[in-house]
Amino acid sequence: MLNYSSWIEIDTKQFKKNLEIIKFHLKNSLFCLCVKANAYGHGLIEIAKIAQNQEVDYLAVATLLEGIQLREANIDLPILVLGTFHENQIQDLIKYDLEITISSFFKAKLVKDFCEKKSLKCKVHLKVDTGMKRIGVNPITAISLYKYLKGEGCFIIKGIFSHFACADQKDHPMNKVQSKIFDDLLNKIKPDRSIICHMVNTAALCDFAIDLKDMVRLGALPFGCYSKPMPDKFKDIKSIFSVKSKVSYFKVVEKDEGISYGHIYVTKAKTNVVTIPIGYGDGYSRSLSNIGKVLIRGKKHPIIGTICMDQFMVDITEGSAYIGDEVVLVGRQQTQEITIQDIASLCKTISYEVLCAFNERLPRVYI
Ligand SMILES: *Cc1c(COP(=O)(O)O)cnc(C)c1O
Repeated sequence: MLNYSSWIEIDTKQFKKNLEIIKFHLKNSLFCLCVKANAYGHGLIEIAKIAQNQEVDYLAVATLLEGIQLREANIDLPILVLGTFHENQIQDLIKYDLEITISSFFKAKLVKDFCEKKSLKCKVHLKVDTGMKRIGVNPITAISLYKYLKGEGCFIIKGIFSHFACADQKDHPMNKVQSKIFDDLLNKIKPDRSIICHMVNTAALCDFAIDLKDMVRLGALPFGCYSKPMPDKFKDIKSIFSVKSKVSYFKVVEKDEGISYGHIYVTKAKTNVVTIPIGYGDGYSRSLSNIGKVLIRGKKHPIIGTICMDQFMVDITEGSAYIGDEVVLVGRQQTQEITIQDIASLCKTISYEVLCAFNERLPRVYI
């Protein structure tokens, strides 16, 4: 079917199902899908197109460039750029109708000066730092900054938002602290009804948020990569991401022979070895050297030796394999599965990083 050596498969049918389930549970809150970092590795444009057809309300990206890519692909949903910006990016943010995050008086004034010079208006979201200490105005200054935005004719205030720092730890005291700081602020400034207040991300939605506010910003959940057991209401949300390859080479190696760079693996007996044509140059982490597993013919087999830039080796002695056999690095094969979380734990990181690491060299196939 495919002429690729290795590729990523995205299950679009399941993705639509995931979006439907989420939309159902959000009730009256808007759904903002985070598509930064190539839609968590799933492919920015294709994912945005599906989201648009499935009536997702908003998209969020991290950078100006990601926003431009979406607009150039004719995505016409509202797009919020979550990150901050430099003065020389303001022109394009407005030109491409991207919604700007205002995180300080300094940034607000840059935008105002530009808009006044060119007689333009721009859509903005006020970002409040309730505890993440990344970007965002502190809650006290937020009151006067909101007034400033309201008072200057060039600003169309679309939203006010904040971000949890410890939402993945359900009982962390910061969750309540941050919620309260944000709520108190909203009570003080009493934003107009048209202004979208948003704070909830995947971990908050899954674990503790009672008040979803006007919008939720979700990345991990729609892609089915929430790292803890899914809460019951989301139990039918599944991962849509598989990484596949094909056995490219077979050989028998005698006992006491070193395999791959540095010979960090030495055969303990006569060993049947296959080579898989994918490596860290594709985003398959080198930390999986000697410890990762792959699925071939429905069984897990161990990676032996160092993972190279474009290839690695697998001990197939316990099974069998022919050149051209499908290899699953992430995803299901027959009754077995290797999840993104499995790989994240082996690499001592989080699922998000594993997903984002898979880069453009691997073609995405949408099934
Ligand atoms: C990425 C991001 C999100 C989405 O987080 P998930 O845990 O993937 O749901 C929400 N808000 C901000 C500010 C983000 O950067």
